Amino acid sequence: MAIVGAGYTGLWTAYYLKLAEPALRVLVLERERAGYGASGRNGGWVSGFFTGPARVYERRGGRAGLLALQRAMFDAVDEVGRFLLEHGVDADFAKDGHVTVALTDAQAVRLRDSVLEARVRGCGKEDLVELDADALARRVRVAGARGGAFSPHVARAHPVKLLLGLAAVVERLGVTIHESTPVSEIRPHEARTPMGPVRARWVVRASEGYTAQLRGLGRALAPVNSSMIVTEPLPAHAWEEIGWEGAEVLSDGAHVYCYLQRTADGRIAIGGRGVPYRFASRTGGAGETAEATIAQLRERLASMFPAAAAVPLDHAWSGVLGVPRDWCVSVQADPGSGLAWAGGYVGLGVATANLAGRTLCDLMLGRTSTLTALPWVGRRPPRWEPEPLRWLAINGLYALYRQADRAERRRARPSRLARALDAASGRR
Ligand SMILES: Cc1cc2nc3c(=O)[nH]c(=O)nc-3n(C[C@H](O)[C@H](O)[C@H](O)COP(=O)(O)OP(=O)(O)OC[C@H]3O[C@@H](n4cnc5c(N)ncnc54)[C@H](O)[C@@H]3O)c2cc1C
Repeated sequence: MAIVGAGYTGLWTAYYLKLAEPALRVLVLERERAGYGASGRNGGWVSGFFTGPARVYERRGGRAGLLALQRAMFDAVDEVGRFLLEHGVDADFAKDGHVTVALTDAQAVRLRDSVLEARVRGCGKEDLVELDADALARRVRVAGARGGAFSPHVARAHPVKLLLGLAAVVERLGVTIHESTPVSEIRPHEARTPMGPVRARWVVRASEGYTAQLRGLGRALAPVNSSMIVTEPLPAHAWEEIGWEGAEVLSDGAHVYCYLQRTADGRIAIGGRGVPYRFASRTGGAGETAEATIAQLRERLASMFPAAAAVPLDHAWSGVLGVPRDWCVSVQADPGSGLAWAGGYVGLGVATANLAGRTLCDLMLGRTSTLTALPWVGRRPPRWEPEPLRWLAINGLYALYRQADRAERRRARPSRLARALDAASGRR
């Protein structure tokens, strides 16, 4: 088996393959080094939720399929936790849930609607509940918050510790990770590298936000940027003011939302959309981050937590997500050509890659399981538009979402523009 990409998708796939069939020869081909992509740069939410409009999955799998997918995602968070425990990997994993904070009245209305929508998708009160302003403040004190929502199905982790721990376990099981090995093209049963072709029964594409650089795949997944900053550890008096004693991860309810974690060593990491998309699917290199993006994230942090405003920043970085045209995840394996791939996770790929890796393993080993019946298996997402339409569409979408967020700060009702954009883009 040859796997292209040493991020979570590639490594989880390798792990489950070796677990199922220890004698299998599994190679991972990685252009840079393990964790170079989003898996080494993310916000550390191990989330039991997936991206994309539920109707896309429901159309394929019916209501039962959608519910099965949701339950499998909830399980994936625990599966990651079990793996870490079993292999003695310390990745700062703590499952204290996810709090979404409404920072405007319009966000509060939208959040309430999203909780009701989740009920239709089978999420009960034990999966997702609304929080009034007092209940929210008992967990975390966010300036100007109107209320929020809470789900227990999300854990906090240190992304790089998770990645390196997983890579080490996989290598111990006998998988070879070939770093500095770029693949230029994937063909049936073959991955082409400058050192020569690698032939295998199966070739797994696990290249996510970098997929457009592979020959013939320029329009498969758009690399959309996400940027993060992390503070130095906050002083005790700042934490006293903020509360947030647990390891819940946080986000706000904006269209261009931000996501946060309290790190195990008492810092705040906050991320959001920087430059949304670079022309011709460029991926932004090693993660240099524009000063303007750092300033925006810093401002958001200070407005949510004035007590953190003066805490120095330690570091800033960026990476790319893989975004399919319909914003929905796919897992595929074609026995004829030996081509398999999983991805299109948008901003929620940490736990999703675990579930996708297990599913790819079952598919490639020819096992029928509850995972292989999930409605994202075998999906063929539509391709993105050619340039310059792709650039215009993605950057235009985010410009309009920012406009909608500004409008929602001035008036209480959710933006109709944003709702229309959601419907037109297929994002929700
Ligand atoms: C800033 C940021 C914050 C995020 N926060 C979260 C979060 O908190 N929670 C969450 O669930 N998700 C988050 N995500 C998304 C999540 O990190 C990704 O969905 C997930 O890591 C994808 O894993 P992957 O293995 O599929 O892809 P990647 O981690 O991107 O790995 C792909 C690998 O393939 C290699 N590669 C690509 N092309 C080739 C080639 N041609 N030849 C050889 N190797 C190749 C790359 O170098 C890379 O190492 C975030 C992403 C970013 C960028």
